[in-house]
Amino acid sequence: MLIVMKMDASERELDDVLERLSQSGFSGHVSKGVERTVIGVVGQTYPELREIFEILPGVDEVIPISKPYKLSSREFQPEDTIVRVGDIDIGGDELVVMAGPCAVESEEQVVETARAVKAVGADILRGGDFKPSTSPYSFRGLGPEGLEFLACARAETGLAIITEVMGPQDVDLVSRYADILQVGTRNMQNFVLLDEVGKARKPVLLKRGLSATIQEWLLSAEYILSQGNWQLILCERGIRTFETYTRNTMDISAIPAIKKLSHLPIIADPSHGTGKWELVSPLALAAAAAGADGLMIEVHPNPDKALKDGPQSLNFDNFELLMSRLALLATALGHNLRSRRSPGGK
Ligand code: PEP
Ligand code: MN
Repeated sequence: MLIVMKMDASERELDDVLERLSQSGFSGHVSKGVERTVIGVVGQTYPELREIFEILPGVDEVIPISKPYKLSSREFQPEDTIVRVGDIDIGGDELVVMAGPCAVESEEQVVETARAVKAVGADILRGGDFKPSTSPYSFRGLGPEGLEFLACARAETGLAIITEVMGPQDVDLVSRYADILQVGTRNMQNFVLLDEVGKARKPVLLKRGLSATIQEWLLSAEYILSQGNWQLILCERGIRTFETYTRNTMDISAIPAIKKLSHLPIIADPSHGTGKWELVSPLALAAAAAGADGLMIEVHPNPDKALKDGPQSLNFDNFELLMSRLALLATALGHNLRSRRSPGGK
């Protein structure tokens, strides 16, 4: 439910409405637009509320939200959400690139990769350290020690860090190191974890579940927003279909669909989306052309020796080539590629 205030409503009237909401067991999220102030009501609303609030001084109208997801919907907030990480804006007119290894393997590996991706224009270093793994016998990450390696890479390069948090018990620990908390595809409906990252005061990247509909994904986003964490970014990373040639099917259509349905920023991960390094650059460009606010790309100094996801990782040369192509595309689209490089140059 949205409460739209009159153009000339006073601060006092706004406060009174918020107070009344809280007395009724709801909270209000205020967005002050150029023309009008709107209060998004957080909580399980019911039709009778409309009459109660519509007659309060300063209230223009009360509008129910038709979608099952509320806070993440464009109806709730027409303006794009911009998530700020240091001096980086995700969701504005910049195309933000997050790059790095699937898994943190050693200090040297992660620092070397951080330097290489930064040199050609990446904005944020990715590196999984608590690794979800389909098989319990494959590499499951270095754990706490690896977080120190990520911190070294940030100290060396100044790049912000995104890394995955796998369980609610690790949110505090990972928050001490990460600039963005990543919730992976397998955990998109781990509601206890969603509640916990919702309480954290850190930006969160929520990947789409591998068999989740867009509506289910936005309902998961709702868990995080309703805990009061509005620094939320979505990430399309491919979904499961009947196709087996690719690891997943990269759902490019989800990007403009999310832009229509939600105010949240959305980035694309064509590495997991395709599972094949040769397909990563074409799909990265397609995602940018479809309106993605950023990209997440797996990059490894030596993909053949990677402990995880080598077949979908770009080596440094191929990542540089992708960055130069992205710069050309960004120009054509009128986007700003942060740390823009001349094509092919450093
Ligand atoms: C990852 O980004 O390291 C990862 C495990 O991705 P996903 O959750 O999309 O499989
Ligand atoms: Mn991976």
